[in-house]
Amino acid sequence: VPELIEVERYRRVAARVVGRRIGEVDAPDTWYLKGGVGAVMLADLLVGAVVVDARRRGKLLLVDTDRGDVLGLRFGMTGRLLLSGPAAESTGGDDPVGDLLYGPRRDHVQYHRFALGFTDGSRLTVADPRRLGGVELAPPESRLGPPAESLDAAALALALGGSTAPLKAVLMDQHRIAGLGNLLCDEALWRAGLSPLRPAGSLDDTGSEALLRAIHETVAELSARGGSHTGDLQPARAPGGGCPRCGTALAHDRVGGRSTYWCPAEQR
Ligand SMILES: [Zn+2]
Repeated sequence: VPELIEVERYRRVAARVVGRRIGEVDAPDTWYLKGGVGAVMLADLLVGAVVVDARRRGKLLLVDTDRGDVLGLRFGMTGRLLLSGPAAESTGGDDPVGDLLYGPRRDHVQYHRFALGFTDGSRLTVADPRRLGGVELAPPESRLGPPAESLDAAALALALGGSTAPLKAVLMDQHRIAGLGNLLCDEALWRAGLSPLRPAGSLDDTGSEALLRAIHETVAELSARGGSHTGDLQPARAPGGGCPRCGTALAHDRVGGRSTYWCPAEQR
């Protein structure tokens, strides 16, 4: 599931088309186009434009063109960004995005929902089996909360402030904090010793500091390890799993609509 760590890898992939000119917009799946934009309109706006930047805000990838248009890509539960052609071929030996390059050749074509073709033959493709992602023109970036990786104490307090919703649900709300998904939240809450169920507004200073530290450590460590699925809690996120720290059987429930695991002995 793409969380900020995975979308940051996609951003690095998309950065390889900066400076290249769009020659074709391939939008075979109109369901995948959001915000009322159609394939013809997208082609009118984008064909001939040059990509000037690839940015990320939380889990949203933003592609800027020299005409001032901004294309937003969301990856939902199963979306991936794949690159082929000349832009994919100039790869360094320690490139962390290597497995996303050359993708379209080996990937299932029926899952290709959207692609930008470039005049040099490069191709940037969104593959998404479950179709929960989407492509949008001028996505409302300002409605997203502050990025999780640069969160500070004041921003965290603002995001949680006064809410009686479960802590995990608030952390996953992209309008409050951008970038955290299911796995990063479970890992950070486990590291902080905080229950996903407690009201978000109930944290004292100690709890807030522990949570902030845990979010930053989780993002940094799991980024270095290679993905949201590399957390210390992850191997135990299964029926019968025990807490990796104390051995207590993990609790399991749906919180904020997502499958959630936590240690009932240590997370309060
Ligand atoms: Zn425990």
